[in-house]
Amino acid sequence: MALAIQGSGTGIWDRDLLRGQIHYSTAWKAMLAYAEHEVSTRIEDSYARVHPDELEHVQQAMQAHFNGQTEQYHVEHRLRCRDGSYKWVCSRGKVVARDAQGNALRMLGTTTDISNLRSLAKRLQHSVELVTRLTDQVPGVVFQYLSYRDGSGSFTYVSAGVRDIFEVTPEQLLHDPEIIHHCVHPDDLAVYNAARKEAERVFSNWHVEYRVQLPRQGLRWRLGEARPQREVDGSIAWHGVVTDITERKRFERELHEFASMDALTQLANRRVFMAYLGTELARIQRRDMSVSSLLMCDLDHFKLVNDRWGHGIGDRALRHFSDILRSQLRASDLAGRVGGEEFAVLLSGAGSFPARDFSCRVQHALASEPLRVDGEEIHLTLSIGLTQLTPQDSTPDTAFGRADKALYRAKQNGRNRVEIN
Ligand code: GH3
Ligand code: MG
Ligand code: MG
Repeated sequence: MALAIQGSGTGIWDRDLLRGQIHYSTAWKAMLAYAEHEVSTRIEDSYARVHPDELEHVQQAMQAHFNGQTEQYHVEHRLRCRDGSYKWVCSRGKVVARDAQGNALRMLGTTTDISNLRSLAKRLQHSVELVTRLTDQVPGVVFQYLSYRDGSGSFTYVSAGVRDIFEVTPEQLLHDPEIIHHCVHPDDLAVYNAARKEAERVFSNWHVEYRVQLPRQGLRWRLGEARPQREVDGSIAWHGVVTDITERKRFERELHEFASMDALTQLANRRVFMAYLGTELARIQRRDMSVSSLLMCDLDHFKLVNDRWGHGIGDRALRHFSDILRSQLRASDLAGRVGGEEFAVLLSGAGSFPARDFSCRVQHALASEPLRVDGEEIHLTLSIGLTQLTPQDSTPDTAFGRADKALYRAKQNGRNRVEIN
């Protein structure tokens, strides 16, 4: 037994409590680089080798065992080597003989060198701290997620950013990965789940943009990205990050609106109107029985408004007219500003009679609601050219040109009127 232990890098000791002596094995002495004769048997000397920082703890643990409070004596502490340096050891022991009153008489124990283990644990601890500190600096939440073969999964690492991204603590998410599903906006849950399934199915990067509804921040946009890695047990480890893209999304939407909307009137701009006209024409060509009307509107003598009131009031007049026009639209209609004071309207599903009615209603509303400026009224009138979209129109421009011709005739025939082409 002693030989076996000697070969394992562990020293053994035998303590005689009555004599106050302790005997060490050769391997024990060698562990601390002492020669055979250099270690005394005096118990006081043995305590003197214990690092002062741990001495009290060692003595307390020893006493607790003598008193029968512990099954075994077991402590980790440092011991002084021959050259004065210290080594971390693990000491284990047990009282093997007691007198009739229960006082400890003899104790046997082992001492194992754990300095390598301690330095490994320290390096590991440093690595963990480094990873945690680094990932906590990343905007968003850095995570490791394991997908098991049975379809379930769990988080194995979550950085502190989860408090902002999902308004939960890392502990909560580590305990229950499902709480994310309660944060995802119901309308985006299907997209969210499908992205995950698909990434798992084809073993590709996970990438999904979705909305979350949070108690504190409300509605926000999130971007999830992760890379898969196959583990030996067949599960998949995902390493990734979820970031806040709310600002980017808002910016994208503004950019989109900016690109599609006329800034002065908030109506569709010419490009968007023409694109929509093209879509509507394709619909008409697919379904022979469909009808739609196109109106070209031009404010009469608008130059005079600018000349008399200035360009700023002219702009207000354009907005005033746009508001009136908008108030007459149904959900399926679209109005666009296609020139300075020229507007086009597409009445989807409307034949020439309803289109003429609509035109007259707009002219009437404009006549009955003059723009009021400094107590004065600016009366605006509108000329309208009207045409029907037909399946024979080869391009949107064909129909557009026809409506323009009708508008020209309305101007020729005295303005403030509707002409049909
Ligand atoms: P009519 O159409 O009845 O023939 O006469 P008009 O005076 O409206 O003639 P025209 O279409 O030639 O002129 C349009 C005027 O609209 C010219 C321009 O000064 C003005 N205009 C165009 N865009 C804007 C704008 O964004 N703001 C303002 N204030 N005026 C504009
Ligand atoms: Mg005009
Ligand atoms: Mg004009």
